[in-house]
Amino acid sequence: MASGGGNNRNGTHRNSLKGTTTTSAASTDKPLSVNSNPSKPAFKNKSSPLTGASSGLRKSSPGSLGGGAAKDDAGVPGRVRVAVRLRPRNAEESVADADFADCVELQPELKRLKLRKNNWDTDTYEFDEVLTEFASQKRVYEVAAKPVVEGVLDGYNGTIMAYGQTGTGKTYTLGRLGEEDTANRGIMVRAMEDILAEVSPEIDSVLVSYLQLYMESLQDLLDPTNDNISIVEEPKSGDVSLPGATLVEIRDQQSFLELLRLGEAHRHAANTKLNTESSRSHALLMVHVKRTVKGREPAHSSDNGNSTSMARSLRPPLVRKGKLVVVDLAGSERIDKSGSDGHTREEAKSINLSLSALGKCINALAENSAHVPVRDSKLTRLLRDSFGGTARTSLVITVGPSPRHRGETASTIMFGQRAMKVENMLKLKEEFDYKSLARRLDIQLDKLIMEHERKQKAFEVEIERITAEAQNRISEAERNYADAVEKERLKYQKDYMESIKKLEEKWMMNQQNQGNERKEQMVHIAEEVAEVKKLLSKETSLRKAAEEEVDNLKSQLAQLKMSEALANSEILKLQKMVEDEVCQKEKLEGEISMLQSQLLHLSFEADETRKRLDRGGPGKVPGGLDSPVSQVRSQLKDSGNGEKASVAKLFEQVGLQKILSLLEAEDADVRIHAVKVVANLAAEETNQQKIVEAGGLKSLLMLLGSSEDETIHRVAAGAIANLAMNEKNQELIMSQGGISLLSTTASHAKDPQTLRMVAGAIANLCGNDKLQTKLRGEGGIKALLEIVKCGHPDVLAQVARGIANFAKCESRASTQGSKTGRSLLIEDGALPWIVQNANSDASPIRRHTELALCHLAQHEVNAKDMISEGALWELVRISQDCPREDIRTLAHRTLASSPDFIAGLKRLRIDY
Ligand code: ADP
Ligand code: MG
Repeated sequence: MASGGGNNRNGTHRNSLKGTTTTSAASTDKPLSVNSNPSKPAFKNKSSPLTGASSGLRKSSPGSLGGGAAKDDAGVPGRVRVAVRLRPRNAEESVADADFADCVELQPELKRLKLRKNNWDTDTYEFDEVLTEFASQKRVYEVAAKPVVEGVLDGYNGTIMAYGQTGTGKTYTLGRLGEEDTANRGIMVRAMEDILAEVSPEIDSVLVSYLQLYMESLQDLLDPTNDNISIVEEPKSGDVSLPGATLVEIRDQQSFLELLRLGEAHRHAANTKLNTESSRSHALLMVHVKRTVKGREPAHSSDNGNSTSMARSLRPPLVRKGKLVVVDLAGSERIDKSGSDGHTREEAKSINLSLSALGKCINALAENSAHVPVRDSKLTRLLRDSFGGTARTSLVITVGPSPRHRGETASTIMFGQRAMKVENMLKLKEEFDYKSLARRLDIQLDKLIMEHERKQKAFEVEIERITAEAQNRISEAERNYADAVEKERLKYQKDYMESIKKLEEKWMMNQQNQGNERKEQMVHIAEEVAEVKKLLSKETSLRKAAEEEVDNLKSQLAQLKMSEALANSEILKLQKMVEDEVCQKEKLEGEISMLQSQLLHLSFEADETRKRLDRGGPGKVPGGLDSPVSQVRSQLKDSGNGEKASVAKLFEQVGLQKILSLLEAEDADVRIHAVKVVANLAAEETNQQKIVEAGGLKSLLMLLGSSEDETIHRVAAGAIANLAMNEKNQELIMSQGGISLLSTTASHAKDPQTLRMVAGAIANLCGNDKLQTKLRGEGGIKALLEIVKCGHPDVLAQVARGIANFAKCESRASTQGSKTGRSLLIEDGALPWIVQNANSDASPIRRHTELALCHLAQHEVNAKDMISEGALWELVRISQDCPREDIRTLAHRTLASSPDFIAGLKRLRIDY
């Protein structure tokens, strides 16, 4: 590794200091201070720069514990520490260089090294530690190695490396075993002493590998057959491991020394075999320290110190894994590439490859270059963590004093200077040891299972014992109980026997006393017994007979019951049949009455139709020739008197009562049919009496009041009119409020036929002499005068007839002298209507009014009114023009006999 470090080789003390100071300022934790404590060498105790950094690490470590080594925390900055060690002149140098001064001058208190350029000029370099030729091995260990070893024990990786020209004391510094003099023990031995002093052999482990790297081949110094060990890098963590290397667990210093000796012997043998020197190869000692952290809660524990022992036992132990790598590098001197030392040019290149690669990496790191060619050699791959990685690295550069090797010395110094600029990020390798926790728990579990089994067994034995004991106790108690019972039983038996005996004795005594009396009684009793026996046998025979009788009766009863049951079922059957019959009958009756009413209706319709046919033409017949009415009519025509005969037959078959009852039927159609039938019957004089007697008149009057159906009103009024032809019936109609019912019906009527019927009925009533006053009093005349408003000639004819009837009765009463006052017709204002219609075109109207006027004129008291209302003219006309002779004569006679009329005629100048 050529220095080529012209850039860093400063000509002045000042310049070189400046450069170094810059480096110091860049490092935050760099404890090195040129002036801080000159009297106290910085490396002497734990406050030394490297140790100081170590304390700093310890403080910061809890913060980086969380995820253990795997966690990608930032780590703590830690620059590569570089110490320079000067070998004393050896015998040869003492002789050969006797006249020359050393090429280096050390200022350990200032941590400076002066390299003589020539007799008058030097370059000054500052290092972390400057170790003179007098520095003891112990001191070298303490300042250059101990902080790193302590770091490894705390869970950091560490590297201690010696660099320098062959023969300058690298192996002396690192590898001396100190067998001849323990004071000469080198760093490896001392490091292991410190490690073994710190670890606990039960829970911690120290594993060692020892290797040699020569011409890019990695050989196992603990197993010489293994001469091509591969390097495995874990891509995630960047950790380097050598799975093929022998790992020896170290438990004591002695075994370690033996291991080193063995390794050294193998190294020597290998080098002989390869025809090389150990100075051409790199020796690497790797110490893996795994320590369990005692008495410290993990930083992320959340139970605030209240953890139970259970929780504690379930917590995996925290382990720290530190790896110490001690590297005794090959000599840094330039290899003669001419092949003069027995190597070919290619071999020379290969021998130096790793070292020159290391130099390049350090240069790149020192200059913060983006690319660090770590992968260029096996050495740089192996030391990846030591430079620019996470390890704490301490480099000892060894120089000789001889001016003859000034060039190599300068190159070594420049290597050290550049290495000082390399900044590492120290990281704690701490993790939870789940495996050991699992092991521990397994052991604990085994113990518990065993303990449980033991207890279980003891428990079962105890149960068995208790069961046996209980069984014993139970059987003993049972025995005791049986004994006691037996005893008790015997005692009672004995008592019982004794009392029986006593009673028997007593009884015997009593028997003897009573013996004599008894004999007499016995005879008497024997007689009585014989008597009783006789009675008994008699009773028995009687009883037997009675029992036979009872049996007999019982069997009869059973028979009767049977026949009764039969009869009952028969009765039930018959009842059912009767009910069915009744049902059937009711149904049939209903149907019959329906049919009857329909038939009656048809008959009525037929009758009506027939009448109309008789009266007018066929045009008045409603419906076509095919209608049922027309059919009936045709049948009636065919059969002549058959229709009347059929109504009469019906009357016979159904009975008047039944027909009248239908007037109150719920079905409106039935009511209508019934009233038509009744009306039809009432038209026959022979039936009228029967209808009235059966209450038909009353029902018809009621229908006028209760029904709102105009057809019913019309037909009922017609029927009433027919019935009102009979004098007796007229009184009945009047006494049952007929006038008011008829006038109400008239006031609601819309059909002139209804009014005709009502007017006809009233007209009939008007003809009764006895009812004049009552009829007038109940509004009969007024009702007639209301009816005339309809104007229908048929109606007016009926009204006229009524008025004529009334006037005739009045005139009869006046003649007889039972009536004296003015006519009630005039009183009720009927005169104007009479006068008005006296000359009507309709002959029935004219005839009745003419008659009425004549009757009114019979009585002198009416004359004045008649004259004033213009009746005189009508009377004159009647006396001359009336086609009926009797009326004509009556009018004439009246005019001629009445003084008022004669005066009136005179006054009106009517020539009569
Ligand atoms: P290197 O390993 O660098 O090639 P060595 O350690 O083999 O050098 O040292 C070469 C010689 O110098 C050895 O004989 C060694 O005993 C001696 N030597 C080296 N350093 C010292 C020292 N500090 N004090 C006394 N002798 C030393
Ligand atoms: Mg050596």
